[in-house]
Amino acid sequence: MTDCQWEGLCDGCARCCLNKLEDWDTGEIYWTNVACELLDCETCRCKDYENRQISMPDCILLTQDKISELSWLPPTCAYRLVSESQDLPGWHPLISGRAESVHEAGVSVRGRAVPENNIKPEQLEDHIVDWPREIIMEIVGQG
Ligand code: SF4
Ligand code: SF4
Repeated sequence: MTDCQWEGLCDGCARCCLNKLEDWDTGEIYWTNVACELLDCETCRCKDYENRQISMPDCILLTQDKISELSWLPPTCAYRLVSESQDLPGWHPLISGRAESVHEAGVSVRGRAVPENNIKPEQLEDHIVDWPREIIMEIVGQG
C-alpha cells in the first residue's frame, strides 16, 4: 500500500484523537469525549496534521507495521478492520464515495467531543463515555 493509499484509508472519524484513561492495575482503557487540543471538533480534522508530531509529540503515528499492536484503536477504525481482514462498512468514505457519510452514520466525534483546552487532567474521569467503542456497520442513505 502506498503512503497515499494508506492515508486514504482513514475514515476521518477522529475517535483516535480522543483522550483515553488507562487503569494502571488492570490495563483497561476508558474512552473520554475530550478531544486533543489540535482537533477541530466540527470538521473532525487535525488543525496541524502535517506537523502534528512536532506540535503534539504524544500523537501516535499510525504506521502499517504498528497497527496490530494498537489494541485501543476503536472497533470501527479502518486500519483496525483491514488488519483484522474485515470489510470496510458501508458508511466508510471509500465505500460510500462521500466524506460526510462517516458523520451521518454517527461514527465520527462531530457534535459529541469537547476540546481539552479548558479541562484539567483530574476532570477527565468526569468525561468517560462508551460510544467510541460502538460498532456501527449500517449503510447510510445517499444525501
Ligand atoms: S480511528 Fe482510525 S479511521 Fe478513525 S480517524 Fe482515527 S485512524 Fe482514522
Ligand atoms: S495531533 Fe492531530 S491527529 Fe494527533 S491526536 Fe491531535 S488532533 Fe489527532
